[in-house]
Amino acid sequence: VTLFRCAAAALDGGIAFDVDIESADGVIVGVRPAGDGVPDEVFTGVVVPGFADAHSHVFHRGLRGRSHAGGGSFWTWRETMYQLAGRLTPDTLRELAFAAYVEMVCAGVTAVGEFHYLHHAPGGVPYDDPNELGLAVVQAGADAGLVVTLLDVAYLAGGFGQPLAEAQLRFGDGDVHAWAERVEALPADIRTGVAIHSVRAVPPEALPVVARAAAGRPLHVHLSEQPAENEACLAATGLTPTALLHSAGALGPTTSAVHATHLTDDDVRRLGAAGATAVICPTTEADLADGLPRIGDLAGAGVVLALGGDQHVITDPLAQLRGLEYGERLATGRRGSLPPLDLLAAATRNSHDAIGSPAGSLWIGAPADLVELDPASARTAGSLGLQLLLSASAADVRTVVTAGVVQARGGVHVRWGDPGPILARAVERAWTA
Ligand SMILES: [Zn+2]
Repeated sequence: VTLFRCAAAALDGGIAFDVDIESADGVIVGVRPAGDGVPDEVFTGVVVPGFADAHSHVFHRGLRGRSHAGGGSFWTWRETMYQLAGRLTPDTLRELAFAAYVEMVCAGVTAVGEFHYLHHAPGGVPYDDPNELGLAVVQAGADAGLVVTLLDVAYLAGGFGQPLAEAQLRFGDGDVHAWAERVEALPADIRTGVAIHSVRAVPPEALPVVARAAAGRPLHVHLSEQPAENEACLAATGLTPTALLHSAGALGPTTSAVHATHLTDDDVRRLGAAGATAVICPTTEADLADGLPRIGDLAGAGVVLALGGDQHVITDPLAQLRGLEYGERLATGRRGSLPPLDLLAAATRNSHDAIGSPAGSLWIGAPADLVELDPASARTAGSLGLQLLLSASAADVRTVVTAGVVQARGGVHVRWGDPGPILARAVERAWTA
């Protein structure tokens, strides 16, 4: 048994002071007022559950700080992304994923939903093991000290009625049955889900096949990130993307709609009635000029809110959390639509739930994933209670524990060291090797 003594911990309903959290075999087995046992770790800061990133494209980390010259739009950014996707090898993808996950662990992320669509070699030629790249990403996460849910993406078309473009061939499996067969061959001992890349990339008749293949696991989909997707979907099917997914049986309580930015009132109601989750990716959505999602309306309709880092334009779960509320403030002229406890739930429990991860709370039985935040840094000093969440950044993540084991201290990984040089080398190799 490992005993963590916490000066403050985010339990149900707010902060509790002087709490002992015990873990055994990676799971929380005791939460009680601090006693006289000898602690293995003393946390003088504020302990929150480990964060989850419910929407990651890990290789996009190689684009950070390299896409800001020349203006453009989501669609021109995508061309740069395709250049990187076209170059990656199993080795450079593994190295880049590992580096990005090390950075994420140091920032307090303990589980990731990897929306994985880079499946095959250039030209769409399968590797000897057709799941080589997906499995490389899962292993990279394990090496870095977090758990990856591999959300295997069906990506079959370049648009409504259009074949894949040359740059998209690596993403495709030919048809939805070949996709399903490949997914079925994934090992049973890794955490998996499935994904519809978008209604642009999966033909309407294939949508129910992907939905059925989820078989109770998470089903993720990029939804209405850009107005052009809505216009193309309406022109091709007469339905909005949300209505099309509904008609295909793809909306339910295990569905996560990623972005959910440009929705009609009916779309919002449908997502709420389905008990679906919306995975908002505030820093990426700002970076890509996507627009602001209707956070208050979604929450009011019963949609669960979760968070994703998406293209990893920055790696900071606290910036994602704050971005959720800031976007709503900018859109509505009101402050505090989401109180700190709701923001914490979005960044922890809801995001873990969305990817089938049992972590995300400090309850007995949950994985012992703990993050200690510094309440007395230059950024956070003076913050009251959980309002700390609106002043802290990833630089205030003091200690990260996954499954009862300390993974990072002060932004440095205990096994791998400073993520900076690891990332520098991995990004360099991704573009040149
Ligand atoms: Zn995405």
